[in-house]
Amino acid sequence: MDLSNGLWSKKEQMNILYVIYLISSLTFILGLKMLGSPKTARRGNLIAAFGMTIAIFGTIFLYQDEGGMHLHNLEFIFGGLVLGTAIGWIVAKKVQMTAMPQMVSFFNGMGGACAALISMIEYRHLVSHSDGDLIAMVEQGGEVLTRLSIMYAGLIIGSISFAGSIIAYGKLEGKIKDKVLPGQQVINIGLFLAIVGLALSNVMGWLHTDTMLYIVAGLALLYGVLFVMPIGGADMPVVISLLNSFTGVAAAFGGFLYDNKVMLIGGILVGSAGTLLTIVMCDAMNRSLLNVLIGNFGGSSAGGGDGEGPQGTVKAVNPSDASILLKYAKKVVIVPGYGLAVAQAQHVVHELEELLESEGVEVKYAIHPVAGRMPGHMNVLLAESNVDYDKLIEMEDINPEFATTDVVLVIGANDVVNPAAKTDSSSPIYGMPILDVENARQTIVMKRSMNAGYAGIENELFYRDKTNMLFGDAKKMLTALVAELKSMN
Ligand code: NDP
Repeated sequence: MDLSNGLWSKKEQMNILYVIYLISSLTFILGLKMLGSPKTARRGNLIAAFGMTIAIFGTIFLYQDEGGMHLHNLEFIFGGLVLGTAIGWIVAKKVQMTAMPQMVSFFNGMGGACAALISMIEYRHLVSHSDGDLIAMVEQGGEVLTRLSIMYAGLIIGSISFAGSIIAYGKLEGKIKDKVLPGQQVINIGLFLAIVGLALSNVMGWLHTDTMLYIVAGLALLYGVLFVMPIGGADMPVVISLLNSFTGVAAAFGGFLYDNKVMLIGGILVGSAGTLLTIVMCDAMNRSLLNVLIGNFGGSSAGGGDGEGPQGTVKAVNPSDASILLKYAKKVVIVPGYGLAVAQAQHVVHELEELLESEGVEVKYAIHPVAGRMPGHMNVLLAESNVDYDKLIEMEDINPEFATTDVVLVIGANDVVNPAAKTDSSSPIYGMPILDVENARQTIVMKRSMNAGYAGIENELFYRDKTNMLFGDAKKMLTALVAELKSMN
């Protein structure tokens, strides 16, 4: 589409596009900042989405190449936009809150695939502009060498991110089990070196075939699968966040290739935010990234690290007993976990909190950084039911308070309160800081059975003297507790 005869000259159109890119970049930065608090996160997301929309439409209608040509094939571009928007909209509308991490992982994989495809297409362009003699162009060095290097970097990282994210999606869905091959680490390192070696040999013109790009892409896909396959137990949050940063970096390489500043900035923001989140997650779990990636292969053993689960009997209580404990407490700390999200019990837990407060009980929520199935899962869930943000206390701040807490109410949480993380060096979660609920005077654990949580290990807490098991679906049990408390008045 040529707009040059319209309102603005070609030069003016490009200048307007640069201003749009600047505004878009600012909205990304502002949006990211606003995502830092549940109060502003929704607005921040919308602001960044607005920035992305104007960047996309600005590019479609205003961008021109060096020859002054606007984008063509608009029917394909709009066809793709409509189709992608419709699929994204329907999937996001239909997805259950508990399946959100899988969806994020899947969408992240699509971003990686896009970056890899961009590299492939640009490679074809480069070859077609080299009159079939890419080696001669490479030998001249300079720009071609740089472009080829960036293409390979985008292709490799994007492919790893795509394959890894799809495996992570399958694992979170429970469709793919952890799998460790014999000599897994050697295979992974060997494969990685082969990918880098082959890419380098093509970039430098030492070993040139047109199919090299596809060989490298295939190996990178395989690497993505092998890289995520063995990582299990409680380490998936770190891997998901790392893959997210990979996609950002791959997109930034796409920005380099197209000399597109907004794509570059967007990619760098995703890449750096993902990297920071990975570091924060590693810190929260007291693990180094290397340890997560290669140290814990096959870490998710069921039934406890040493193969012997905790022994003893559990004390089961009914909602009536539990409500008496809660009613006569001075201070109650609620520990939400994945089961609260599964049961969609966020509204009724807020009702319980308000009821207890009206009885003069002090109520707080203890938020573990990896509770649930995605970073910030519990914050998002509780914000949905308008729980006061000031009542959500991070792990390091709430842990010293458990000693002065009368009753801890653990709702559908398991791994994040498992003392094996501190006591059993063979446990897959050993070293991960946990919520020290055992220090409280009494603990009520609400879950449906004695089944394990995500890491697949038993929890000794359930067998402790001070622990009262309230078996049942979290929403049903919370509703029963609310009814009991109301009937006591
Ligand atoms: P867990 O997965 O350890 O435990 C959840 C518990 O909830 C289960 O034991 C289950 O027991 C119970 N539950 C399930 N459904 C219900 C229900 N309807 N009502 C009541 N209880 C229910 O959860 P945590 O939040 O303690 O720990 C999170 C785990 O997930 C960690 O291992 C973390 O590493 C991992 N993870 C976290 C991610 C993140 O980014 N936050 C991403 C990926 C993994 P039962 O079946 O007996 O009811």
